[in-house]
Parts: sequence; C-alpha cells; structure tokens
Amino acid sequence: MKSGKQKKAEIKKSRLARIGKRDTTVDPYKYPIPEWAIPVDRSAIVYHSMYLDIPLFYIDKEFQCKDCGSSEVWTAKQQKWWYEIAKGYFETTAIRCRSCRDRRKKMRVEKKRHMEEMAKKVPHPNSAFFKNT
Ligand SMILES: [Zn+2]
Repeated sequence: MKSGKQKKAEIKKSRLARIGKRDTTVDPYKYPIPEWAIPVDRSAIVYHSMYLDIPLFYIDKEFQCKDCGSSEVWTAKQQKWWYEIAKGYFETTAIRCRSCRDRRKKMRVEKKRHMEEMAKKVPHPNSAFFKNT
C-alpha cells in the first residue's frame, strides 16, 4: 500500500515530467497557441505596469518555496485562477508551497482570534481617556 506522502511525490514527479516536455518547445509569447495550453484572457487580468509583456497562454511554472525551499509547480490552471478569478496582480507570482501557505493562513487566523479575545476583556478604567469620541 502506498502512503499519502508517496502518492503526493508521484503526482509531483509526473507534473514535473509534464512541464519538462512542454516547456522546452514553446514560447508563451509566440503563436501558435498549443492545443493543450490555457490561453490568457487579457481582459480579465489586472496589472500595474504599463510595459508588461502579457503572454498568450499560461504554462506550468517551477519555483522554490520561499519558506521551506521545496520545489513546487504552479500550474497553468492555478495561474489562470489567480490572475483572472482571484484578480491577483499580473506582476505577482507563487512563492510558497501549499503547506507553508496553509500554515501562514492558520497563523493569521490565530492572531485575529487572539486580538478579538483581547478586545473582549474588560477595559482598564483609564482606557476611557483614549476612546474616540
Ligand atoms: Zn513551503
């Protein structure tokens, strides 16, 4: 029986193999758009730079997680979601793996909860001086 970790590693391997096959032959700035490619919808993307070169289609990107250093793949599909649905700026790119992102998210939630707890506590009598009127 395969462990979840092994399975995950295999999926990652096949993903890497796939981009290896595709990356070497295509330029996302040049026509024709390959049939497997996920095209960029220029009207849906948001960006700051006036001189940004926008590719014709997304391709899977390899990157190293900023926190744990693991090698990850940011898939074309995930990129499309991030830029066109979530409206992430086109200048932004994936820098953290899933588990590091989840960990940071959890930390933020914890912090927020803590702040709310603190706010609920009975204020010090002097705190009336600092209230906005
Ligand atoms: Zn990581």
